[in-house]
Amino acid sequence: MERRAPEASTHVDTNPIHHTELMPYAWSYGMGAESTTGIYRMLTDPNARPDTIAPDYSNLVVVIAQTGDEWSTTGKLVERHILPLLRKHNVRLVEVARKGPTKKDGVAVLQDTRQPYRLHLEGAYKLSHENRSTGTMPQLGGVRKCSQKAKGWPQDAWRAKEFGDRRYIHAIGFNVNEYTRITRDSAYSMGGQRIPTYPIYEWGWSRQDCIDYLSRELGVVWPKSCCRHCPYAGCQAGWPEQLARFATLPAEAAQHIIDEYVCTALNPRSGLFGPGKSLISRLQRDRVTEPVKLAAARMKRMPWAVYRVRRFYSAPAHAIRSVDRVLLGGHLVAYAALEEMSDLVGVPLVRHEQIAGAPVRGGDRDIHRRLWVRQRQDETYPAMEEFYTVAPAQAFDKATDRFDDTWAAHTDTVLARLECRCEAAAEVVRHALTRSRFTSAS
Ligand code: SF4
Repeated sequence: MERRAPEASTHVDTNPIHHTELMPYAWSYGMGAESTTGIYRMLTDPNARPDTIAPDYSNLVVVIAQTGDEWSTTGKLVERHILPLLRKHNVRLVEVARKGPTKKDGVAVLQDTRQPYRLHLEGAYKLSHENRSTGTMPQLGGVRKCSQKAKGWPQDAWRAKEFGDRRYIHAIGFNVNEYTRITRDSAYSMGGQRIPTYPIYEWGWSRQDCIDYLSRELGVVWPKSCCRHCPYAGCQAGWPEQLARFATLPAEAAQHIIDEYVCTALNPRSGLFGPGKSLISRLQRDRVTEPVKLAAARMKRMPWAVYRVRRFYSAPAHAIRSVDRVLLGGHLVAYAALEEMSDLVGVPLVRHEQIAGAPVRGGDRDIHRRLWVRQRQDETYPAMEEFYTVAPAQAFDKATDRFDDTWAAHTDTVLARLECRCEAAAEVVRHALTRSRFTSAS
């Protein structure tokens, strides 16, 4: 039986606002089912429009922050069902994205119009671009730094610039089951300047109510809005939907598989869904192999590197890191170079059967061969880890502040000697490669 959406009369006024003059009403539009429902319903049902929005919608501004990695299918649905409504009611749409990895880089306004025809899902500086350059992926747990950086901050910055000292209403599409998020968000009032409001919560609607409503109104099952490489979309409830997207959009998905391959090469514990829970193995397990095949074919055409990776752990889960690309070449050359280094140093290349922290049963096997210079001892701190491995050369050389000093201060004689031998071996292989390139060119 079809679930009926709760009536507007169930309205819970969590933010009573008693003003005669209408202030700006900024709707953070995440493009998911809840916020799409909110915008669609307010624009199509006069009873659903709060009296804080002018009848002609002149004070309403819909703000979207693009991470650069949203699935194209979400964008197409918004373009087909929501943008025409915004145009019809002359509602202002502002699309923003961060311009670079730091706040200093600023915010790009991708469009600011009352007549929007298309979205700019490509953003300005993609979240995946940042992750790629550091050889990392968005991480599960904690405070969803990726979302704060790529979605929250560009919108905050835009509103701060646009509204200055003016008070404004800020609507977010939290549903009736997201009271904890509401409690956290509502504490952020900026001294009363920001007046948060949660229309979906106030209507008493759940996520499923929103999906059902959009299905009745638009005839589509509204998908989850998320990055293609979102670790949260891999939870049990979300995975079937995400898996279907990987199956239907393999060309869009392939680069994220390459990203994860590099990420797990540099840190075996960094599967997208946690240690030993990689995207690659999940796709293979569920027989969605097309994006994996595409990724493998692309990787063969990419430049590769022999990476030197060092980590210094001051405490559990507290590490600083240094990554260096010590040799560059095609993928076969990079593999051969690492093997040659291993022979010269006399340390065999190994894969680990198990990945530290991974489930004993059902966890991934380590797929990357490494020349270990120092393996860390469990539960002994400080701890050091150093190895050489190969992967596509998309991660840049980078060391955390003060890494070299910290590393040098803790390097013992045994480690120092082995490091010297590895560096000498890398130098020999580098010269051999340069000579062979020179010879084949002449
Ligand atoms: S969708 Fe996922 S990966 Fe993208 S910003 Fe949000 S939490 Fe991070």
